Amino acid sequence: MFTALPDKPDADSLERAILDFWEKAEIFAAVRAKNENGPTFSFIDGPVTANKKLGVHTAWGRTLKDVFQRYKAMRGFHQRYQNGFDCQGLWIEVGVERELGLNSKREIEEYGLEAFVSKCREVVEESSADLIAGSKRLGQWMDWGKDYYTFSDTNITYIWRFLQLVQERGWLYRGHRLTEWCPRCGTSISAHELIGSYTDRSDPSLRVRFPLLDRPGEALVIWTTTPWTLPANVAAAVHPDEEYGRLANGDWLATARAGQAEFTEVRPGSDLVGWRYQGPFDELGPGSVVAHRVVAWQDVSIQEGTGIVHIAPGCGAEDFDLGKVNDLPVLAPIDEAGCYYGDYGWLAGRSAREAGEEITADLEKRSLLVSAGEITHRYPECWRCHTPLLFRVSDDWFISVDEIREPMREANRSVRWVPGYMGSRMDDWLVNMSDWNISRRRYYGLPLPFYPCSCGHLTVIGSREELAERATGPISDLPELRRPWIDAVQIRCAACGQAVQRVPEVGDVWLDAGIVPFSTLGWESPAWVPEGYATGAAHGMTTADLPDHAYWQRWFPADWVSEMREQIRLWFYSQLFMSVTLTGQAPYRTVLSYEKMLDEHGREMHGSWGNAISAEDAFAQMGADVMRWQYCQQPPSQNLLFGFGPAKEIQRKLLTLWNSVSFFVSYANTVGFKPELDWVSEPQRHDLAPLDQWLLARTARLIDEATRGYEQYLTVNVLRSFEAYLDDLSNWYIRRSRRRFWNGEQAALATLWTGLVQALRVIAPITPFLAEHLWQQLVVTACPGAPRSAFLAEWPKAESSPADERLLEGVAATRQIIELGRRARATAKLRVRQPLGVLLVDGAPDLDQSFLAEIADELRVKEVRAGRVEASGLRVRPNFPVLAPRLGRDMPVVKQALDAGRFTVRDDGHVEVDGHLLKADEVIVERLGQEGWSAASDDGVTVALDTRLTPELTREGRVYEVIHRVNTLRKEAGLEITDRIRLSLPGSDRDLLAYADWIAAETLATSVDVSAGEEISFVRSS
Ligand SMILES: [Zn+2]
Ligand SMILES: [Zn+2]
Repeated sequence: MFTALPDKPDADSLERAILDFWEKAEIFAAVRAKNENGPTFSFIDGPVTANKKLGVHTAWGRTLKDVFQRYKAMRGFHQRYQNGFDCQGLWIEVGVERELGLNSKREIEEYGLEAFVSKCREVVEESSADLIAGSKRLGQWMDWGKDYYTFSDTNITYIWRFLQLVQERGWLYRGHRLTEWCPRCGTSISAHELIGSYTDRSDPSLRVRFPLLDRPGEALVIWTTTPWTLPANVAAAVHPDEEYGRLANGDWLATARAGQAEFTEVRPGSDLVGWRYQGPFDELGPGSVVAHRVVAWQDVSIQEGTGIVHIAPGCGAEDFDLGKVNDLPVLAPIDEAGCYYGDYGWLAGRSAREAGEEITADLEKRSLLVSAGEITHRYPECWRCHTPLLFRVSDDWFISVDEIREPMREANRSVRWVPGYMGSRMDDWLVNMSDWNISRRRYYGLPLPFYPCSCGHLTVIGSREELAERATGPISDLPELRRPWIDAVQIRCAACGQAVQRVPEVGDVWLDAGIVPFSTLGWESPAWVPEGYATGAAHGMTTADLPDHAYWQRWFPADWVSEMREQIRLWFYSQLFMSVTLTGQAPYRTVLSYEKMLDEHGREMHGSWGNAISAEDAFAQMGADVMRWQYCQQPPSQNLLFGFGPAKEIQRKLLTLWNSVSFFVSYANTVGFKPELDWVSEPQRHDLAPLDQWLLARTARLIDEATRGYEQYLTVNVLRSFEAYLDDLSNWYIRRSRRRFWNGEQAALATLWTGLVQALRVIAPITPFLAEHLWQQLVVTACPGAPRSAFLAEWPKAESSPADERLLEGVAATRQIIELGRRARATAKLRVRQPLGVLLVDGAPDLDQSFLAEIADELRVKEVRAGRVEASGLRVRPNFPVLAPRLGRDMPVVKQALDAGRFTVRDDGHVEVDGHLLKADEVIVERLGQEGWSAASDDGVTVALDTRLTPELTREGRVYEVIHRVNTLRKEAGLEITDRIRLSLPGSDRDLLAYADWIAAETLATSVDVSAGEEISFVRSS
């Protein structure tokens, strides 16, 4: 006996029960043991930052990873299941600062670095526990407890090793450069962190006079939106080929920027070059030693401002470059916190951002201000704390990319990207990448192993052993190779033997993640070290081993990695960089990447907007299977619109599967049907009806299509195929076979069982809970010796023959004709139960008699004939989703012309309308039926339904109504499907007694008569 299913599944409790089963029965361990000697499939998990709980965003990526690992496991692949956590960097620091109420680096130092760092580690500890719990609930199978944590000493020293190699190659340098700077975080921001961080901001817009030294009473007028940079001014730039003029009041500016003003003198820009002027804030000190002058610059824009550009090489990237060309001095006015240095007079200690108003007021007082307004423009902000960034000259550590750019591009060409355009994005990034700024002036991160000496030598430490060897004292009691502990270690300079100190900087967090394909797989590790990854800060959080080099050779490069698109310039990039540096090849063979997640209405999800969905709510209200389905039905090239609305739609689809299983169970139990396990690999083929053969062929096609979808890493294709199959199974096979199930036909039950079992297996990687539950119901309880989990069975095989193909085509055409017939019936507003005379079919391939009979039966027509449908006319409607984007504003005019019939349909299917040529897929062409006929057409097939009713047809329509009514009443009365009845019809239906046998057969009536009443009535007959 199969266990009867409830009306609908309770996802939350069903899923928890399955989790419990997997755990108690140790299914995951059994799966791994079964595949131990199989071919390898290497997946490397990108680390998730351990500073949060599992959210629906993170669950997306985790789902895709789990889906493909489960699929590969079902195919017998031996795999690694190591999950990873990113544990360092600004994300975590900023969160802890907020929690502790710290607002600057000074306050962190006062709080105490050791306490601060251990607070950060606590965040990692809590968050990783939460993330693991959430991922388990999602159904993700990982080697939990053997996770990698990027702050382990092992990971750190692997990065050291990489940096040492970079230095040996001559790529490492300390740059005195202008960088984007976050004054709140007190650190530079590198190029890959800037993308997407621009927002609209309102800033002051000032025109300021610079008095000319050799032309009394005259002044240059410059334009700036950053008044804080004026104290760092050293030059003014003009376009040498543009025209400049002097106004009556002595102000010079580009004539093109002065409207209708009259000029008393006009000169080309080249004449102004070399003029000396009084700097705007010379009295503050630093500016007074600068000889301010006019320089020529081809990039001066005459489209905005005054055509004269204020140049402060210490505060702007282009200014910095221009300063190099013209040998201009660099004034760097602000410190790490964005405040003026002490030698800037009354500005000393003031924040650059807040000093704008005072600077403006001061200029006005000294009659140097021409005008002051506001401007809205795009401006970058810190990706973590949203403070507007400043430009600041600082000393940062860089890796030069000149020599590695081409090898990286070459390696990228060997990678298969899904979707393909992601690979071009990576190439664009590589073409344009600037030197990698790897240093951050922070506390909680990878300690850069750089020890610069006053003798000029830079020692870069490459391992813990080397540190111990060079250190001036023992390092055995260092708890972690991180700040603050590592800062206490001095080493002897490799060149001169002097004691030297480490630089205070920590590393870019993407170094931490980029080294993972080496540090977790044991690259060049001489021996396998049990728990060798559980070092430093990771001690006590994991029991991960450090494997040996042979292991690395086996698992590198990854066959497959997957993360969202922004990782192109982050993790995919840093991994590629480090891997090409260390091995010359890409660290991954295939990458699946995907776009953004938005809410179901297409808006960003924000806690403060009330549209964010927590993973807990999603688990409770939709269930993990539905979440996973929602992620998997998404084409990766488009943004995912996630929400409870789409979840309902998915629940509806899953219910169709559920109901089909439920249908099977009730009829199978009625006749005590017993399936055989062999049918899972080799379907039974005795006594099959054509419909059974068709379902088996259809099942083989599903397996084939789904397998291809998985192999292409496109779950969307798997689900499209599955949905189409489910429709065929429930709306065709079951529907057309009902009578056979009532009769308990073994062939029908065996075929349906096979179709259901195979379908749940191909969908198992996506909806593992429901699939496992149904496997238990349909297979484990019924077949002795069955694999105790769906995931312990082999991947289903798809075998088909040419005869199968013909059968599939025939049924597909049949279903299309029926669909068109239903449409024609609906257009004519005829009830489904009303029999009709004739259906004409035009344009369908030859269908044999059995299909025509099925069409007649489904559409309730007496006869189906092939024949030419004479149309009275054509109607053409626009296919909006395709056409509207192409036509744009012309769309309404074209639609009007189509509605009014002003179009020509050409033989090739193109439609000429109003000067436009519309392709066949851009329009929907319908043939209008002649009087007394209703027509519908699609894809080259047209049907016409004879809508004229004879008295005979009308009566038959009433019989169908009666049968339907009786069967509804039977259900309402709680009768079993096998119960017999004695039926009485109302007097008004006396004429239907001519059909008594028919009615009796359809309602399981032992007798049919007419009563005096006005309603249908019946009693159970014994
Ligand atoms: Zn910041
Ligand atoms: Zn030295």
